[in-house]
Amino acid sequence: MQQEILQEISHFFNWYKTTYGNEISFEGDVEIDEYSTISTGSNAGVGEVEKKYIPQSQSRSDVFNEKLVHQDHPQLKSFYREINQCSKCALHKQRTHFVFGMGNPVADLMFIGEAPGRDEDLQGLPFVGKAGQLLDKMLFALGMKRQEVYIANVLKCRPPNNRDPLPDEVVQCEPHLKRQIEIIHPKVIVALGRISAQVLLRKMDSLTILRQNEQSYEGIPFIVTYHPAALLRNPGWKPKAWQDLQKIKNYIS
Ligand code: URA
Repeated sequence: MQQEILQEISHFFNWYKTTYGNEISFEGDVEIDEYSTISTGSNAGVGEVEKKYIPQSQSRSDVFNEKLVHQDHPQLKSFYREINQCSKCALHKQRTHFVFGMGNPVADLMFIGEAPGRDEDLQGLPFVGKAGQLLDKMLFALGMKRQEVYIANVLKCRPPNNRDPLPDEVVQCEPHLKRQIEIIHPKVIVALGRISAQVLLRKMDSLTILRQNEQSYEGIPFIVTYHPAALLRNPGWKPKAWQDLQKIKNYIS
């Protein structure tokens, strides 16, 4: 019995750390005009403002917390409410959760993966399993936390056995992602893996080619790197992924 309670507590803290980072927040502790732009000191040039977002307090009572996906950002919230019951393809029949995305609605940096896996389907949040833990480490290498970027996928529902998305699923789901990108309007997009890059760029090139060439999506610089799950399977690719992180750093610094 005691063992079970300890396991639950340990599971909760692991999940909390993956989702929120090392910071503990308490309900009702922040009252800030979140979406105003704030003049910044050292990093901004004269007359420049930097988009800055301070997350509101987050309820920890449920594993799935709708606020994590839109942070009460008016457009993102209404778009989430518009599409979260989507039944345009067969994947909705088996889903536990519709995985909209999560993070900072005014992020400069947006990461796009392929589709939710098992952990993501269960928790309703993107990249919360093992691949997500590696993504968090990649963010750490960029000096960033998950709450500062936005993370989404091409598909919002889990394909069975984590198979590749089918063309019809992409056709139905990609408009959701397109609208999400329009709302967030990041300065840089990072495609995690071949599939999201091929879908968004409308190119069938290999990951090697896609990584090497300069890409852009609707005028937004678009960097292609390895999917964290691929890096877990092939740790020998990590030095190349590191090079990609340096590219990302150059865009955001
Ligand atoms: N792989 C993805 O592409 N997306 C997730 O959210 C998790 C794993």
